[in-house]
Amino acid sequence: MTPEKGKLIEVLKEVVYFPKGDNIINLKMVDDIELGENLIRFRLLFEKVDDEKNQFLIDTATQMLKNAFGDIEIDIVAASQENSLSKVKHIIGIASGKGGVGKSTVAVNLAIGLALQGMKVGLLDADIYGPSIPVLFGNEETRPLGYDRDGKSYMIPIEKYGVKMLSIGHLVDKEMPLIWRGPMASNALSQLLLDTDWGELDFLVVDMPPGTGDIQLCLAQNFTMSGSVIVTTPQRVALADVRRAANMFRHEGVNVPILGLVENMAYFTPSDMPEKKYYIFGKNTGADFAKELDMPLLAQIPIDENISEANDKGTPFSFNGFSPVAAAFEKLAKKIVEMF
Ligand code: ADP
Repeated sequence: MTPEKGKLIEVLKEVVYFPKGDNIINLKMVDDIELGENLIRFRLLFEKVDDEKNQFLIDTATQMLKNAFGDIEIDIVAASQENSLSKVKHIIGIASGKGGVGKSTVAVNLAIGLALQGMKVGLLDADIYGPSIPVLFGNEETRPLGYDRDGKSYMIPIEKYGVKMLSIGHLVDKEMPLIWRGPMASNALSQLLLDTDWGELDFLVVDMPPGTGDIQLCLAQNFTMSGSVIVTTPQRVALADVRRAANMFRHEGVNVPILGLVENMAYFTPSDMPEKKYYIFGKNTGADFAKELDMPLLAQIPIDENISEANDKGTPFSFNGFSPVAAAFEKLAKKIVEMF
């Protein structure tokens, strides 16, 4: 008789892994299930595969399966939970309540700024409906290379300005509209994260889609993010957007620490009058938002008339020598490094 999968899952949901306080199904520790004539075989994934305590869990699961299915062969193989993010120390999400506030500009310049601080940095463009990283990096036409290992295909991220990056824009045709919705989009994103050989990284900066929809939630819930940065512009009306983004990260079951707020386009300094600051959209707004929403104000990035041109040319500001914008991003990168 071949055991039934539904019943198998039911039984395995009773098997609790005490160090994590949950059952092995919820903890996603069961993989590669194979059911045959009087046979149950699967892999049990452990963080430390050679831990001698693992055998206790294997014995418990075996006994419970024998109790439920009778005298059949049970073959549970301990395997490593390792995936392509295992050597990534910190995933940092860059978010905003709405589009057009400079979230991608901040993600790119922060990633380069961290690399300039000597960190090993990756950058994932998770804005899969409007990927802009390939344009900002000036490598729209580049395609990632790939390789196969243990029957699985991996992509090698593209390297530029000391940053390993990947965007859905590097994989699909520019002209092809991205009409994915819901689960399909979340799946594409999980693949970008997990099927890419990121290697050893200190920081993986993730440029999240604007707003607070399902994709943002999928990211925050399925991947262990060390922190998030919320980007805003200084208009008073933006407060509601920042609050929504903050509430998403603070939501029970999401719980991603908010590292702080970045106020982009905070003021304008004409290049021929560097001592002058014009607060076009409002003064102290970023500081007020940060106080009101109980988070630090990490940076105030000035408006720079050259930033759009730099963005369009694919030569991000942080990499462009000294300017007030580059200096602001350098300060931001230093602050983030200090936080970890
Ligand atoms: P988002 O990712 O939030 O949609 P982008 O980073 O794509 O925003 O920026 C939106 C537009 O604003 C781009 O044209 C970008 O060049 C411009 N921009 C962003 N930050 C600044 C700035 N500090 N000064 C001037 N222009 C900026």
